[in-house]
Amino acid sequence: MTGEDDRRIQLSLKQLISRLRWGSGFAQRFRYLPQLELRSLYTVFDEEDWQFDEGLYQAWQAGETGFPIIDAAAKCLQETGGWLALNFRTRAIYSSFLSNLLGMDWRYGALHFMRHLIDGDCPIDHYQWAMQAGVTHCIDKSWTRIYNPEQTAIDRCDPEGKFIKRWLPELADLPISQLGSPPTIGGYPRPIVNYKQARQQRVKQLETQRQKFRQQKDVAPFLARMPESWEPFGNDRFESEIRWAAQTQQGMFPREIDLDHLTREETQALRTWFVAHGNINPRPAKAKKAKPPKPSYGLQLDIWGS
Ligand SMILES: Cc1cc2nc3c(=O)[nH]c(=O)nc-3n(C[C@H](O)[C@H](O)[C@H](O)COP(=O)(O)OP(=O)(O)OC[C@H]3O[C@@H](n4cnc5c(N)ncnc54)[C@H](O)[C@@H]3O)c2cc1C
Repeated sequence: MTGEDDRRIQLSLKQLISRLRWGSGFAQRFRYLPQLELRSLYTVFDEEDWQFDEGLYQAWQAGETGFPIIDAAAKCLQETGGWLALNFRTRAIYSSFLSNLLGMDWRYGALHFMRHLIDGDCPIDHYQWAMQAGVTHCIDKSWTRIYNPEQTAIDRCDPEGKFIKRWLPELADLPISQLGSPPTIGGYPRPIVNYKQARQQRVKQLETQRQKFRQQKDVAPFLARMPESWEPFGNDRFESEIRWAAQTQQGMFPREIDLDHLTREETQALRTWFVAHGNINPRPAKAKKAKPPKPSYGLQLDIWGS
């Protein structure tokens, strides 16, 4: 084993530990704030109606959005259950599309993922969905990454088009440079949303919602409480045994955090859970840096993980 091999093993070990830490962090949040399974962290994000369109939701599930990176992810999830085949970046792009570009409640996406993911894990899945939808944080815009599902996504995540052509054989003969916005060949659908307009609308909406509590020293009043009904989200769509949810609730065991009786110190401590870098004061706006010349995409994360 060379020194280089050793270094790579150490690095991947470090990455694995960091990922396991992320996963356990989400489990811990759901343990103390079980309402996160049913609600966005901050109530303002659920007060304004999310848009819902059955046709668009079906198109997103079936992989008929007209955006190859999204449609390939949709078909891959349905066919394989996503473990190993659908890595973090692809899950993030696919989920961000539903909540940020189609403006739909992230819970519809979390529900679909939990019904199909082999490695489906409720705290990780739901909190990741909420993070990608931008409803878990309030510090600054940069926290919400609204992925561009057009050519940028192909160049960054599938530079050889292998993933897309695997799941969308009708596009197999297309040059990679056209995979971001393909012509309507072989019945491939037209884009169901205008990316730029949808993005602008979403950034504006999030900005307005965050203004409502961003400068507040005490965020506890803005955090979601345990809802009256514990009925699982989407139960109206998929029949399941939920008589337990109708019974009068004796309260959680172990008890969830009582957000109505937190001291200021406890609220500050709780808030650090939701801010990766610990500093809860909004960062000063950064001076815009001159755009660096276009990179050659030498070394890139690749969906096939080669
Ligand atoms: C919208 C969305 C939904 C997701 N849903 C799930 C889910 O239901 N179950 C799930 O295990 N992961 C989920 N993830 C996280 C991540 O994508 C997967 O854990 C990873 O792709 C699994 O690959 P792996 O088995 O090679 O894990 P590795 O990369 O080897 O990681 C090992 C373990 O660490 C945990 N982990 C890894 N990455 C993350 C992460 N970003 N956040 C939290 N925990 C992580 C998982 O438990 C994983 O099994 C989701 C990510 C997104 C963006």
